[in-house]
Amino acid sequence: MALLKDLFIGLSQNQILNSAAKKYGLKLGAQNVVAGTNVEETIQSIKELNAHGISCTVDNLGEFVFEKVEATKAKEQILDVVEAIHTHEVDAHISLKPSQLGLDIDYDFCLENLREIVAKASSYDIFINFDMEDYDRLQASFDLLETLSEEYSNIGTVIQAYFFRAEEDIQKYKNYRLRIVKGAYKESEEYAYQNKKDIDKNYIELIEWHLLNGKFTSIATHDHVVINHVKEFVKVNNISNDKFEFQMLYGFRTDMQLSLAKEGYNFCTYVPFGDDWYGYFMRRLAERPQNLNLVVKQVFNK
Ligand code: FAD
Repeated sequence: MALLKDLFIGLSQNQILNSAAKKYGLKLGAQNVVAGTNVEETIQSIKELNAHGISCTVDNLGEFVFEKVEATKAKEQILDVVEAIHTHEVDAHISLKPSQLGLDIDYDFCLENLREIVAKASSYDIFINFDMEDYDRLQASFDLLETLSEEYSNIGTVIQAYFFRAEEDIQKYKNYRLRIVKGAYKESEEYAYQNKKDIDKNYIELIEWHLLNGKFTSIATHDHVVINHVKEFVKVNNISNDKFEFQMLYGFRTDMQLSLAKEGYNFCTYVPFGDDWYGYFMRRLAERPQNLNLVVKQVFNK
């Protein structure tokens, strides 16, 4: 299992395969977990989820952005999504990755791109989540968040439970709307738990702490053990449903997504779209090699 995880994480970082994948549209089963390649298809998917009482967070997929022109293009695409969410009056907000907006090129350039997006979203009362990437970008992403929160309040971020520093971060950022996840990247044992048991334990502790002390908690997991634990914890501690939501990725455990929404919990589906699907898809295979079923089914269904 660990070998497969490393293999898929390695593949997710392969820039040649990433560029090749962009040219061929959604392939290998990625179409089951990526909502579409353009804004129109994505809005349609959001409307379908909204009809089931599910809100959405929309991610315009994009990785390996090392040229300003690409980051500017990504910014324009995200601004289009913000406009479309407003025009179609759908229940959705934005998830974005600072690296897609130029963090690896120049911090101030990235800050300006983010400022433009956050400002426009703020004028429409749309929330923007800064997704968290790998450790090398962690502190810079928090810095961007802090700087922009001096001007805007429609922003929040992610706490990754595999980092030793997560406990400190969650306390520092408790007044933000926070998504809490286990963590998707391969990180060094210098600063991250490696063992599933340790990560799961820290994950539960962080969720409980933020539910009791934080502003609003998004519990982003497909793990039914964690979800059942949270259901019990909020009941015992009298935490009302408007203080938290569950989140899952588009195309995963769809039955559970629908049933949680039906049970009356706030539910938000993470909806990725775009032609830059390759790295996202490989990370999903790394998390759960059983997801290879998606690939196998696709190959044999031709
Ligand atoms: P796992 O630990 O992968 O699985 C636990 C158990 O749950 C499994 O053993 C199995 O029993 C069950 N299970 C899991 N998946 C399935 C399935 N598909 N079908 C049936 N059973 C299943 N990571 C980041 O680093 N940064 C981010 O910004 C970020 N944002 C995210 C946003 C959302 C909405 C979600 C859902 C995840 C995000 N992640 C992010 C990824 C996250 O960090 C984990 O890598 C990912 O969610 C896998 O962990 P898990 O908690 O879902 O459960």
